[in-house]
Amino acid sequence: MAPSSTAWPSLPWRLIFRAMCTDPGAVPKGNATKEYIESLQLKPGQVVYKCPKCCSIKPDRAHHCSVCKRCIRKMDHHCPWVNNCVGENNQKYFVLFTMYISLISLHALVMVVFHFLYCFEDDWTKCSSFSPPATVILLILLCFEGLLFLIFTSVMFGTQVHSICTDETGIEQLKKEERRWAKKTKWMNMKAVFGHPFSIAWFSPFSTPDHGKADPYQYVV
Ligand SMILES: [Zn+2]
Ligand SMILES: [Zn+2]
Repeated sequence: MAPSSTAWPSLPWRLIFRAMCTDPGAVPKGNATKEYIESLQLKPGQVVYKCPKCCSIKPDRAHHCSVCKRCIRKMDHHCPWVNNCVGENNQKYFVLFTMYISLISLHALVMVVFHFLYCFEDDWTKCSSFSPPATVILLILLCFEGLLFLIFTSVMFGTQVHSICTDETGIEQLKKEERRWAKKTKWMNMKAVFGHPFSIAWFSPFSTPDHGKADPYQYVV
C-alpha cells in the first residue's frame, strides 16, 4: 500500500497530537530570580516584566494562562478541545487541525448526500446493511455531526488566519491592546507562523516550521 494512503486515516490523530503535545511557547516558571535578571545584563533604563502569578520574566506579547498556570509567548487562547494553549510554537498545528477537520467534515457531508441519493434511486434494502429506518437515522445523525464540525472548525480556521494576517492574537484583540510591535505584511506574518520560505511543508503537520529570521523574538526593554 502506498504510504500516502496509510497516512491519511491517521492524519486527524497526528494533527491533534501535534496541537496537544507541542509546547505552545511556555516561559520557564519562576525564572524571575535575582541571579537570572542580573545575567540578562540590562542596560540603564531597560526593564523586564515579572508575572505575579507564575514568577517568570514575561516576554513581550506573552500572557498568563490560568488553566496551564504559566506564561505563554504570543498566547492566542486556551483551547479545551486540544487541552493546550495555542501560542507561538503550536499555532501552525492548530490552524492545520481546524483546516483538515473542516475538510474531512465537508467530505463526510458530500458522502452522506451521495448515499442519500443512491438510496432514493435504488432499493433501500440494498444500499445499506441496516434496516431502512436505521439507515435514515444514521445518515441524519452523520449529517448533523458533519455540519456541526464543519461550521465550528471553519469559523475557527477563519479567525485564526485573520489573527495571523493582522499579527494580533485573540487575547490582544479581546483586550484591545495597543500595538507595540512592528507592522509587517500579511505574507510575512504567515511565514512567521508556518515557516520560512513557503513550501508544501506549510500544509504538513509532520514538519516543524522553520521560523528563520521572519519573526525575531524580543523581550520588552
Ligand atoms: Zn505567568
Ligand atoms: Zn493554557
